[in-house]
Amino acid sequence: MKNPSGAKQEKFGSRSGGGSSHVRYDHLRRPIKIEILCPCCQKRAIASDDHANQDYVSVGDMSPNWEQSSFSVMCTSCMYRGKNVSYDELSEPFYQIKGRGEILWAWNLAHLEMIYLFLSAKNIKGHQYEFYSTYIHGDWKKYKSSYLKAIDSWLLKNKLSFNQNTPNHNQSNQ
Ligand SMILES: [Zn+2]
Repeated sequence: MKNPSGAKQEKFGSRSGGGSSHVRYDHLRRPIKIEILCPCCQKRAIASDDHANQDYVSVGDMSPNWEQSSFSVMCTSCMYRGKNVSYDELSEPFYQIKGRGEILWAWNLAHLEMIYLFLSAKNIKGHQYEFYSTYIHGDWKKYKSSYLKAIDSWLLKNKLSFNQNTPNHNQSNQ
């Protein structure tokens, strides 16, 4: 997958001599469902790792299919369909939100929800993307109110809302 900036990730985000901010892109796991920008219409496309065990939300780099993953891509807006797309060939994440610091991005809506809950100081224990909370960037935490506001308006603009089927997500309001 490409970086939010659109730059190609050579080795999963690690850059020789790159700034430490990039290290945090080095997830050793990635979800089996990733939402990306459609290469045709730039709207929301869903990439599914067909080789991964579909019982899990993520696949780790120790998995035999980490390298040979083959994604199928389906755009939710146009007729674009991709078959046997490698991870490296995937386009940028669909969820890219501009706040006061660097761009906040997420693998998919459920991941964005976890980030949102985390930044709202809600309990994310048991959330299916709890694991990824380690990778929440310093900038996002530092300017959390800016990002929370930006996520709200971004979701509204894109006519999306968080799923209701994840635990701990609407236990309080604010
Ligand atoms: Zn499309």
